[in-house]
Amino acid sequence: VSSHDERARRIGLNESIFRSLNEDLEKLADRTGHGSRLTLICECGRAECTDRIEMPRERYERLRADPLAFAVVPGHEQLEFEDVIGREDGLTVVRKRGEAAAEVARETDLRG
Ligand SMILES: [Zn+2]
Repeated sequence: VSSHDERARRIGLNESIFRSLNEDLEKLADRTGHGSRLTLICECGRAECTDRIEMPRERYERLRADPLAFAVVPGHEQLEFEDVIGREDGLTVVRKRGEAAAEVARETDLRG
């Protein structure tokens, strides 16, 4: 395994952890009834990043339909491992590139 794959895998794992946190935040929002707008954690995969992203719930649902897509704070994209597929108000949508990262994203997709 190359060190590039190693890093891609580690970042992918971190992203997946934040994604599942965000799934919990979404469910919590369900219960408290503040449903239309979600405050989520940046999914950039940097362990030290705790930045927040706000987006409408239906936007998040569309994002989550693609297991390789993640929402990050603008500027937090890591072009070595992912492509930017959308820039919107206050967030950037990235899509994982490369087998190692894609594998992690799929393996850990709770909705898969
Ligand atoms: Zn971030």
